[in-house]
Amino acid sequence: MSKTSYPGHGHPGPEWRVSHRASRTDWSDAVERCAACRARVDMSEAHYQVLLERDIDKPGKITLERERVVFCDESCAAEWESTA
Ligand SMILES: [Zn+2]
Repeated sequence: MSKTSYPGHGHPGPEWRVSHRASRTDWSDAVERCAACRARVDMSEAHYQVLLERDIDKPGKITLERERVVFCDESCAAEWESTA
């Protein structure tokens, strides 16, 4: 009895672990959405990224899957993690 779908971009799930977190400024004109507050995050301005990874267990091999989550700043990242 587990609810697997979240509205929007919720926390991906307990099997994910945080592999890296950092403040970043990318040389990119891409705009993404903060996973916590849904604000626009301009990649070319200072923002915060959390890299998640999980093992996908398949017969005979384990594959590592990675996902990047973008936030306005560290406080949004902390809020998102606390609601996981
Ligand atoms: Zn935010």
